[in-house]
Amino acid sequence: MKQYVYADNAATTKMDMVAYEAMTPYLVEEYGNASQPYVFSRAPKKALQEAREVIASCIGAFPDEIFFTSGGTESDNWAIKGIAMSDVDGGVHSIITSAFEHHAVLQSCAAMEKLGHRIIYLKPERNGEISPDVLRQEITEEARLVSVMYANNEMGSIQPIKDLAGIAHEKGVLFHTDAVQAVGHVDIDVHSLGIDMLSASAHKFNGMKGCGFLYIRKGCGLLPYADGGAQESGNRAGTENVPGIVAMATALKNNCDHLEENKKKVIDMEKEFLRLLTETNIPFVRNGGLHTLPGLISLSFPGADGEAILHRMDLLGICISTGSACNSQDTEISHVLKAIDLDEEYAKGTIRVSLGKYNTLEEIEIIVRGLEKILG
Ligand code: PLP
Repeated sequence: MKQYVYADNAATTKMDMVAYEAMTPYLVEEYGNASQPYVFSRAPKKALQEAREVIASCIGAFPDEIFFTSGGTESDNWAIKGIAMSDVDGGVHSIITSAFEHHAVLQSCAAMEKLGHRIIYLKPERNGEISPDVLRQEITEEARLVSVMYANNEMGSIQPIKDLAGIAHEKGVLFHTDAVQAVGHVDIDVHSLGIDMLSASAHKFNGMKGCGFLYIRKGCGLLPYADGGAQESGNRAGTENVPGIVAMATALKNNCDHLEENKKKVIDMEKEFLRLLTETNIPFVRNGGLHTLPGLISLSFPGADGEAILHRMDLLGICISTGSACNSQDTEISHVLKAIDLDEEYAKGTIRVSLGKYNTLEEIEIIVRGLEKILG
């Protein structure tokens, strides 16, 4: 098999061996349906409870505040639609979000707009941050939900979550964050940050694809997502993906146990990457300001074509991205770069290199030499 240099860890990550090994017994030995009353279902049922406890302890939540889902997209849909539609009187309200959210949030909001809700889009600053002052200007008691992502998936910019949640609460408004890119990579404590709901996806932190969770603070009043069974305390029906959930909890714990060590490794590689790239004298700017996720590097090469860079890097066996993972087929300038008013000349020449704990310094050199070959 051809060897690749994989530098698109914001799109997805390799599963940890410990997670893989933890999940396999639940595929071929302990494969019972966790909802059945017989003894054969005891082990999967216990595994689900342990996974809930492990995940809760990794983000500072209580176990019964963790609800398993199929991933980030479902968690975002649930949080937004479940709050928008929770008014028993059928009233319409405002939902405040940002202009550079993932499409799972933006399109959930658009669906709610069709039902009559008003959607307010906060504009990010040029450095990729949503200013708390901007939220303060827009928010009124009439709003029902504020949803701002923990870290942007194209630029890596980390948002002032505690301040934003505090402003929402001053007005009695709930606060949701799409933390799909951040969970397992930075320290998150939902209770001390004042987060009411948080979306996460296992495949972004070395777990399995098609598996995620939504943290829901007790008393949020969120509507159930799926009807048809008593799973997830009657909130999300459907036979539980026990192997995926076990892998997710194991991967998250593994990342959280080694958080500082992984961060240091990735930040050191990021510094080396930027040092080597600067040495090539190829003109570039980095997007995303000072507070970014470790290893997520958005670069604009003025006058270049990001799409062409991606394809030529692919021919060299190097996987990078032009921006949002779910949008790489789209040759339009991304809504994220439009939201920060990046000049077209820069926006068109933008790529995302996202490093992870399995990358090596050797690979960093290969990525930079690849860019030098194409742009130098
Ligand atoms: N939210 C963000 C910020 C993402 O980056 C992604 C995936 O790229 C998602 C949501 C969707 O997550 P999933 O792939 O688990 O549906």
